Amino acid sequence: MSDSCSCVAWEGTEPQHVAVFSDTQFETLVREDLGDYHGAVPHRGRLRCKKCGATFAYDSSLTSTTVTRESDVVRVLAALREGKDAQVGGGRSFATYAIKDSRLIMTTSDDGYTEDIPITEERLGEVVLEHRVLFHDYLDMWKR
Ligand SMILES: [Zn+2]
Repeated sequence: MSDSCSCVAWEGTEPQHVAVFSDTQFETLVREDLGDYHGAVPHRGRLRCKKCGATFAYDSSLTSTTVTRESDVVRVLAALREGKDAQVGGGRSFATYAIKDSRLIMTTSDDGYTEDIPITEERLGEVVLEHRVLFHDYLDMWKR
């Protein structure tokens, strides 16, 4: 990820309705159409910059379009929602983070004994900050 990538110019809110994003800049990861207003279809979703790999959430309504660079924890959450999981720690004692039944779960494994503990997104945010390098590796791996 680089601050000098041209995707920086797309961030923020523009007073333009129902945006069309540049194919050379972005790949659309998720798109959700929000109805049809006389041919204009507001939509929202996620984009990935083809040049630097940064991801963005966007919301394009009839009156404005907002593009927001995703933080690490948002990107991790998006991957977990797609069915990925992340293991932190190793050996006989570690924790695995995943979404199960649409709940964020930390599964602790201690000497073969496992326990599912529901956690908040805030807690996951702390874990991602604490293990920044590890989660950057996961995000690279999940990118494909
Ligand atoms: Zn970029």
